Amino acid sequence: MDSVADTPSGRHFDDSSHCLAAREAPMHVDPNEPKGDGADLKRIEAAVRVILDAVGEDPNREGLLETPARVARMYAEMFAGLKVDPGRHLAKVFTEDYDEIVLVRDISFCSMCEHHLLPFTGKAHIAYLPDGKVVGLSKLARVVEEVARRPQVQERMTQTVADLIETRLSARGVAVVVESTHSCMTMRGIRKPGSLCMTSAMRGAFRDDPATRAEVLGLINR
Ligand SMILES: [Zn+2]
Repeated sequence: MDSVADTPSGRHFDDSSHCLAAREAPMHVDPNEPKGDGADLKRIEAAVRVILDAVGEDPNREGLLETPARVARMYAEMFAGLKVDPGRHLAKVFTEDYDEIVLVRDISFCSMCEHHLLPFTGKAHIAYLPDGKVVGLSKLARVVEEVARRPQVQERMTQTVADLIETRLSARGVAVVVESTHSCMTMRGIRKPGSLCMTSAMRGAFRDDPATRAEVLGLINR
């Protein structure tokens, strides 16, 4: 990702930060909806051999013989989220007379930047305001995990998670904050190790009510 980055010390999430374009965005349409087909390992292997050859390597030398098959299995794992609906983890809800903030912080993830096919890794923080329905906390982490396992951009990933929680739980408010480092910024191109990109998606009360938003951002930044 070449756009917005913060400094390593930018752990504090500032509501006026410049990476917040996602906040006002309308309901988001995810272009990589589940397609139902698995990865074609043999075709990935063939493609990796072509790449090795094209960069001037010998795909037949001993050290590289197993590489195409290994990379194919790795891609199948990294993109396994294309084959599933992450929202299914939110199907089982519990009726609970609790209407304050539910927050799960520091959900680690590893995703793949769709522009460079390089990993970006970091943490997601998810908060919602239940409307009589709560979900198992680990399910929120499962949603992040599966949304991450697709060719992604961090902005879309943030919005997709927020939309799923808002619609499947009928939550009165949803806040998703994602912070990550992008390999495509640290190991190539501009080469800025330690830069951190932060994105957020606010829905419902977290978007409309400044005090509620300030409360959840305070909890996330604590
Ligand atoms: Zn990238």
